[in-house]
Amino acid sequence: MRTLQTLADVRNLGILAHVDAGKTTLTERILYATGTTHKRGEVHDGTTVTDFDSQERDRGITIFAAAVTCAWNGNRINLIDTPGHVDFADEVERSLRVLDGAVAVFDAVAGVEPQSESVWRQADRHGVPRIAFINKMDRAGADLDAAVASIRKRLHPLPLVVHLPIGQEDEFTGVVDLLRMRALIWAGDTLSDEPIPEALVPEANRRRRLLEEAVAERHPATLEEFCAKSTVSAEMLAAALRDLTQSGEGLVVLCGSARRNRGIEPLLDAVVAYLPSPQENPAAFASLVFKVVATATGRLTFVRVYSGTLEKGAVVLDVGAGRTERVARILRVRADRHTELDQATAGDIVALVGPKAARVGASLCAPTDPVLLEPAPIAEPVVSVAVEARRTVDSERVAMALAQLVEEDPSLRLRTDSQTGQTLLSGMGELHLEVAVEKIRRSRGLEIAVGRPKVAYRETVAQGVSGVVYRHVKQDGGAGQFAHVVLDVEPLDGKDFEFESAVVGGRVPREYIRAVEAGCRDALSEGPLGGHPVTGVRVVLTDGATHPKDSSELAFRTAGKLGLREALRASVMALLEPVSEVAVTVPEDAVGGVLGDLAMRRGRVTASVTRGSTVTVTATVPLAELFGYSDRLRSRTHGRGTFTAQPNGYAPR
Ligand code: GDP
Repeated sequence: MRTLQTLADVRNLGILAHVDAGKTTLTERILYATGTTHKRGEVHDGTTVTDFDSQERDRGITIFAAAVTCAWNGNRINLIDTPGHVDFADEVERSLRVLDGAVAVFDAVAGVEPQSESVWRQADRHGVPRIAFINKMDRAGADLDAAVASIRKRLHPLPLVVHLPIGQEDEFTGVVDLLRMRALIWAGDTLSDEPIPEALVPEANRRRRLLEEAVAERHPATLEEFCAKSTVSAEMLAAALRDLTQSGEGLVVLCGSARRNRGIEPLLDAVVAYLPSPQENPAAFASLVFKVVATATGRLTFVRVYSGTLEKGAVVLDVGAGRTERVARILRVRADRHTELDQATAGDIVALVGPKAARVGASLCAPTDPVLLEPAPIAEPVVSVAVEARRTVDSERVAMALAQLVEEDPSLRLRTDSQTGQTLLSGMGELHLEVAVEKIRRSRGLEIAVGRPKVAYRETVAQGVSGVVYRHVKQDGGAGQFAHVVLDVEPLDGKDFEFESAVVGGRVPREYIRAVEAGCRDALSEGPLGGHPVTGVRVVLTDGATHPKDSSELAFRTAGKLGLREALRASVMALLEPVSEVAVTVPEDAVGGVLGDLAMRRGRVTASVTRGSTVTVTATVPLAELFGYSDRLRSRTHGRGTFTAQPNGYAPR
């Protein structure tokens, strides 16, 4: 094998998949095929390499994003393991920002599932080029064409299928490579490259033709060759597929079976051929922190290097915090083993030892060239639980462990309830919090008592008021305060807050108007119904008055805050609760029970789709009613039901 390598040989790759589509198995097979692991792990016996967190092994789902490096034909593939569960949407989002490309995995029986759509849209937003792998071709009911049709309908208008499966279901033994027009057949772990079996030649020709036509329609150079020679060479097709993948105009589709180790090599070839490498960039060193982990031996700060080179021992600037940190060591992390590096360059994903304070989302750069890389937006937590040490002697250690947890995962928040004095941990979902607490239990042996989960409510204006007069006057000697405002409050759709001034004739100077707006924002933190954050409110400042000596920005900010508080108390307010969109998939005979159960949970069914002998029901359900739902569903359906849930905003309670 030739030695590595220029940037053009690197791929920072993510695998995106619905829970259960086979991401863990596929990752494992890729590591095996690339010689990164020597023993093939199986999900069911808990020996896979990427799921190295013991909790993940127990739960059988992939939760924490990890980065693993492997080599394929002289290329380096940095495999970033994104979590596949919706409670961790935030972590998926952060991981997407460090990818150059991704493989989207689909189940050949189920096709596109609801959660795949949301991850797909996230990847669209980040402009991540993708190719698709239709997995589980060996399963009963596997149907490549149906899966491709569901992709075309729900995700991408131009799927470009480059494989024709050889044999169906249990007999699935290989694929016809429609570019090279050769058969790839797997027997055990051996792959042989053969002529296309006689019986499949007409169908292979037909599909090759379809592929050429579809590509020619979008790719001018291909069209030219197609018109001139009425056929397209494999080289031209490959170049066109690369262009269309990177522009997002086309989606290359391959198929295989991860479990049976079929289709892995062509998938790796396609990753290298079609997905982009990190851009060559001679600029100064710049990197983004996407994960922080506390280990027994110290703190590991995972970064993706966007540009330049980082040398071991260098000093870097945490741009947002305005603080420098020293990088003592640079590690390439492969599952739970580490390799020391002297330097890291653009495109690398490495763990740094040394930085003590840099948080997830921080930009670490050369001190001479600060670049603030935009950190991923962090979703607002919607569920809270009260937490405390079971034994009082542990209180301090638990508090420290919680603080560290929040530092590692910025979608977790910690605060003290002003009324009860309890410590509240908030996050994206019940499972998210459960996993967080479990982590402390396991890594430090600390027992933590956890209260019942509570959702985060909000308040909104159902019916506003106009002409609310507020005078903030303090004139008892010394420097006085004077501000007079008149406010209208109206309901506002789809936005948290809007402010407008309708004051005429300069009766309130501009800087005081800005102070009123700031005061109104202050008032939004606690609504009149129960002290919840207020959303969906439009405020119009219609009039006001100033005092020549005693008016100030502070006085107007106070008037804005207290004036809006009063106006909200006078308005008709409504309580909002977080709702989720859930998709429940169950055998047909269990549908009645599921529908009844969803109705009891105040769910509104939006669709019900039958596929074979299973039914998928989608519904909008208040998050508060979903606590414990997965256990309930499992027992109701004897383990045959699955469900996914994703946050779907707020709705009136
Ligand atoms: P993940 O949740 O996406 O990480 O999926 P896993 O890799 O854990 O796979 C989910 C289940 O599907 C496991 O029971 C796997 O053994 C099974 N599985 C994965 N790939 C295949 C495949 O190609 N064929 C079949 N029949 N089952 C598969």
